[in-house]
Amino acid sequence: MDDLFLKKCSDCGGSTSYKTISQKFEREGMRISISGIKAIVCENCGEIYFPPGGADKLTAAANSMFELAKVENQHKGLIKAGIG
Ligand SMILES: [Zn+2]
Repeated sequence: MDDLFLKKCSDCGGSTSYKTISQKFEREGMRISISGIKAIVCENCGEIYFPPGGADKLTAAANSMFELAKVENQHKGLIKAGIG
């Protein structure tokens, strides 16, 4: 699995490291923040790389949160979710 991770940024060639990051999503005035996501981040330009399928899973998680927000009428404010 580790072999699949980038050792160098494909954008700028900078060195990358494995970090825990948070990502924000916004839709229809609702904001969602998901933290505790493991990703490869370029030390130089800040480009974020997810493991294969990681970005899709993150998008799916965000979509689920937006659906929950609609049901719960939590349209205003920031919804935070954490992993780990
Ligand atoms: Zn870079």
